[in-house]
Amino acid sequence: MQFFRESMLELIIQTSTNLPPDVRQAMKKALEIEKPQTQAGQALAIIGENIDMAVDNEGPICQDTGMPTFEIKTPVAANQMVMRKQILEAIAEATKRGKLRPNSVDSISGKNSGNNLGPGTPILHFEQWEEADIEVRLILKGGGCENKNIQYSVPCTLDHLGRADRDLEGIKKCVLHAVWQAQGQGCAPGAIGVCIGSDRAGGYHLAKLQLFRTLDDVNPDPALAQLEQEIMEQANKIGVGTMGFGGDASLIGCKLAAANRLPASYFVTVAYDCWAFRRLGVILDAESGAIKKWLYRDPSRPVERLMAAGTGFKLTGREIRLEPPLSEEKVRALKVGDVVLLNGPLVTGRDAAHSYLLHHDSPLDLNGAILYHCGPVMLQQNGVWRTNAAGPTTSIREEPYEADIIRRFGLRAVMGKGGMGKKTLAALQEFGAVYLHAIGGAAQFYARCLPKVHKVFLLEELGVPEAMWVFEARDFPAIVTMDAHGNSLHEEVATKTGAELEKMGVGD
Ligand code: SF4
Repeated sequence: MQFFRESMLELIIQTSTNLPPDVRQAMKKALEIEKPQTQAGQALAIIGENIDMAVDNEGPICQDTGMPTFEIKTPVAANQMVMRKQILEAIAEATKRGKLRPNSVDSISGKNSGNNLGPGTPILHFEQWEEADIEVRLILKGGGCENKNIQYSVPCTLDHLGRADRDLEGIKKCVLHAVWQAQGQGCAPGAIGVCIGSDRAGGYHLAKLQLFRTLDDVNPDPALAQLEQEIMEQANKIGVGTMGFGGDASLIGCKLAAANRLPASYFVTVAYDCWAFRRLGVILDAESGAIKKWLYRDPSRPVERLMAAGTGFKLTGREIRLEPPLSEEKVRALKVGDVVLLNGPLVTGRDAAHSYLLHHDSPLDLNGAILYHCGPVMLQQNGVWRTNAAGPTTSIREEPYEADIIRRFGLRAVMGKGGMGKKTLAALQEFGAVYLHAIGGAAQFYARCLPKVHKVFLLEELGVPEAMWVFEARDFPAIVTMDAHGNSLHEEVATKTGAELEKMGVGD
């Protein structure tokens, strides 16, 4: 097994940086159907450019490199303990090289282990099979989309859809509801794996396993194949669109499986994955651990680019330039739909920083600042920090804190993805601030817009992703989706798409 560790390292790096061809194809289709001049179309152009940049730079497609989950099949008598040890070593090495973000946090102390290792991380499932080779499949599923997983216990009553019964129509309602409730927070367009039946825990496991199927395969069960097709068609008519901006590309894949259940239980479990749908696999020689074959991709074929040369996100000249510290007057003049270009200092702060700021003074002056909800992947070389990946994280997690933080520290903008709730919207109006939406997962694209790191605060206390980084932004594009006049694009799209669900006739 002299090559096993290296093979695992290569699998991790390729999975983090190079989307598989079936996902590229699905995203190409999304690019064709989303209207280019809309906000959703602009977001997709950034995503397309980002996917291409990740391969070119061998950088993480998204800064949230997720929970590494390995599904491993081994021949009888293969030493699984050696494999486990070497996979852990490969994970730590990939983290050190900046291909994975340190993502393993002690749930009690809040301490980040720094190397993606710790109780429960990574997830490894071993199974024996009759073949002579070893098969390893890996999925990297980030927290934003993981938080949008959902489990229904039917019969139940769903917003806009009425009663969902224990039948195919009821299942369809649950799955459409799952796509609707995710809105842009799971970085739409997404793909879903669904388990019908099982128990609660088994449902989540089997739903996630469906994400290992290729997006273009056909379910061997004709009834489920039909249902998958119907869900794909209907989900893409709801109008969630890329990043929840409203549009025609909401879902790039739907994979269903059925498992037996207890007579009293009927769960429909949905695993939601984002457009940054990172999964790959390898077949290994059981003696040496060397890669014999890649699954999902053919490395001898050139990677198909999403964007043709010269295409991608284009400036129109109508963008509004913002340079912090921002004045109240400038911010109050902004309206939902405005595209802004940020230049100058940009401060990051996410979950742990928000909690810290609630109880302490800020380590830096935030008056007039833009607080970016982002947990970047950073590399330090010769004492200098370099930004390796830096897209936005889901902002709604900060909803319990944000209004107080805006009031206490005089922020003029918060920026993330997926939008925020009513309390923050009221604070934006009262104190004169806006919510800026960056494009979720576009970590390479945005890393290019952050050429310099000025300073970092709370690094020791909070770890790399949660620390407060002060970047220099250069032409960093974002969209105003909540303004100081009480308008929210997110509320608007949620209402519109809810009405669409009702119109579809799947409601009672
Ligand atoms: S693309 Fe969005 S949901 Fe997916 S891992 Fe990245 S930030 Fe999370």
